[in-house]
Amino acid sequence: MDQIIYMDNAATTKPRKEVVEAMMPYLEEYYANPSSIYGIAMENQKVIQESRKFIAETLGAEPEEIYFTAGGSEADNWALKGVAHANREKGRHIITTKIEHHAVLNSCRYLEEEGYEITYLNVDEKGRIFLNELEEAIREDTILVSIMAANNEIGTLEPIREAASIVKAKEVLFHTDAVQMYGQMPLDVNYLKTDLLSASGHKFRGPRGSGFLYVRKGTKISPFINGGGQEHGMRAGTENTAAIVGMAKAAELAFRTMNYRMRKETYHRNYLIRRILNEIPWVKLNGHPYYRLPSNANFCFEGIEGESLLILLDMKGICASAGSACTTGNTEPSHVLNAIGLDDKTADASLRLTLNEDITRKDLDYVVEVLKESVQSLREMSG
Ligand SMILES: *Cc1c(COP(=O)(O)O)cnc(C)c1O
Repeated sequence: MDQIIYMDNAATTKPRKEVVEAMMPYLEEYYANPSSIYGIAMENQKVIQESRKFIAETLGAEPEEIYFTAGGSEADNWALKGVAHANREKGRHIITTKIEHHAVLNSCRYLEEEGYEITYLNVDEKGRIFLNELEEAIREDTILVSIMAANNEIGTLEPIREAASIVKAKEVLFHTDAVQMYGQMPLDVNYLKTDLLSASGHKFRGPRGSGFLYVRKGTKISPFINGGGQEHGMRAGTENTAAIVGMAKAAELAFRTMNYRMRKETYHRNYLIRRILNEIPWVKLNGHPYYRLPSNANFCFEGIEGESLLILLDMKGICASAGSACTTGNTEPSHVLNAIGLDDKTADASLRLTLNEDITRKDLDYVVEVLKESVQSLREMSG
């Protein structure tokens, strides 16, 4: 295959050329430990602080409120476990949703084994939480509410500002997994009233293994990795300067191009959705038609298997995803699609196409033609 059409940007994104270039000096020349006290080490310390300051500004946060991690999963684990452990005297009840990423859900399962009690909120058929159910779920002993900003499978945007208002009125901490939203849409921690926020570099064209947790000043949270004094003694380990610099460069470019990308991707996404719904029979859009990430399209094609469709698409040079990439390899139906009311068979018939700004109208026309043929031939095969 001479050219691939990469439509799996919710799973990971291609690092920008400028990102790789910004990282190289910190892998080659400035390799020193940032904690050392000679020139090439101090250069590391300086660039880490600049990166922290830049990332903080993109969120309306203070630099001391940004803690670098090795990705979104780590940030989510830390937010959940760190707040649970530091506030266990206040209570052991946590509220989250049924559609969170496994980094949040499995951290909750872990905490359940430690004796915490978790409430998993329902979502409607478009994937949005019910604010009244949230309000009713908050108890005297609730210490944390964690609701994702945007869902990685169906792209639905959650009403996190409204949710956080309800939660903060009851003096409970609020965390949002914003991994799918940070770098794609504007986010402001004060407007949203969030206490903690997770993000991941490789979801906005930065390097894999980079990420951060925003923690509002004064929030009670335990350190995540014990060791040296890095990250204010909260997350020990010699800093991954190259990853941090790469993520900050990716953030810079993401925010500079955000308006353009949002417009272009929304336009293309709507074009793709319209054509698929109009031209392929027995297909349904999953997720919300309007409260939706600009880059996300997710469909069910009745009577086929998403996995078989992926193979046909791959043969035509199209990279896509059935359900969530994180669950690929096991045949469990997607918990997100189940939560919006799809039975296992319908959930298995799903396909996620996630765009970036490089996708052209011509690419989309090709994808639609391949989809039409592939869906038809799979349906004919299954009789
Ligand atoms: C990708 C993703 C994560 C995990 O981030 P990693 O950096 O891959 O660990 C967490 N939450 C959501 C919503 C994601 O899409």
